[in-house]
Amino acid sequence: MSTFYGLARRNVPELELVIIGAGAAGMAAAIYASLMDINYVLLDAEEGGGLMNLAKAIENYPGLTGIRGPDIVRAFREHLAKVGGELHPFEPAQELSFRQGALEIRTGQAAYRPKSVIVATGLEVLGLREEYGLKNERDFLGKGVSYCAECDGPLFKGKAVMVIGNPFDAFLLRRLTDTVYFLGPVPEEFRNQVPSEIIEANDITYLEGKLEEPEGKGLLEAVVVAGKRLAVEGLFITRRKAGSELYEMKLDDNGFIIVNRQMATNVAGVYAAGDITGEPWQIAKSVGEGAVAAMSVFKYLTGQRMRNLGWALQDEWME
Ligand SMILES: Cc1cc2nc3c(=O)[nH]c(=O)nc-3n(C[C@H](O)[C@H](O)[C@H](O)COP(=O)(O)OP(=O)(O)OC[C@H]3O[C@@H](n4cnc5c(N)ncnc54)[C@H](O)[C@@H]3O)c2cc1C
Repeated sequence: MSTFYGLARRNVPELELVIIGAGAAGMAAAIYASLMDINYVLLDAEEGGGLMNLAKAIENYPGLTGIRGPDIVRAFREHLAKVGGELHPFEPAQELSFRQGALEIRTGQAAYRPKSVIVATGLEVLGLREEYGLKNERDFLGKGVSYCAECDGPLFKGKAVMVIGNPFDAFLLRRLTDTVYFLGPVPEEFRNQVPSEIIEANDITYLEGKLEEPEGKGLLEAVVVAGKRLAVEGLFITRRKAGSELYEMKLDDNGFIIVNRQMATNVAGVYAAGDITGEPWQIAKSVGEGAVAAMSVFKYLTGQRMRNLGWALQDEWME
């Protein structure tokens, strides 16, 4: 029997929760679930930690300035172990189904039938390889290339930068520095909201044209667009792809899972947290949503038990 803080766990025969994904959101949910003594399984397709593993230095997670991504992952793992939690690495969920009101998650190794699920599978960061067939952007990761303007923008105060992806990131960077290029076309998901004219009206240079491999000896020094060399020290690549064939939950137009304030999806007993629920894509937001999702699961499980005992509860209780 597992223990936490030296105490024996409740002997709960049934599986109460499966958390799919052990990034910031899934690990936070698991830590909360452990502390509430919920009987759960935490799955990850890889080793766990998610996108935090890629962050060179995290400057905006309250209380931990300048922490490296792998170090924050280690701290999350240690916390999880301390509260008796366990991660199943390299066990991707392959199917999540809701047949006759029962939840089932299939992995290569097992079929789990929990009372509730938290989906925390994150999103895919689209780099230059996917978009332009370029190869060397990762060589400059943390040396000029960034995937997150809110995270790394302050490091580029007063420096020339280029944004590929989200125009709102260009607006944010323009507050911090005078020279901002935006490489169009504006991605489809922003086109109605932010046409190129609005970008230019914010004193941002809008460009279109063939992009070549970023240049620099060690640190990023320049990018070449349509044959023209532009001296930039920062290149923010902020395109994301959401969605997975795994779910049957309601998604928004951009493929993110729609949730309410309790992180409940449209499917009873299924919650979602982290990057997969949409912007902002941040550790603090993912951790917060993971915590809320776990507390909502506790409320849901309690509600189910009371219904089984014959109490008539309002639907809001079960959300
Ligand atoms: C280079 C970089 C630097 C960043 N820097 C910062 C920063 O400084 N500050 C900040 O706040 N944010 C930063 N971010 C963003 C931040 O890392 C993310 O917003 C946050 O980590 C998202 O957490 P998540 O748990 O929602 O998703 P993820 O971290 O993406 O985790 C999802 C997990 O789910 C797993 N998974 C996916 N599919 C399945 C499946 N079918 N079955 C089981 N598991 C599955 C994945 O393996 C992964 O471990 C950065 C991102 C990048 C890429």
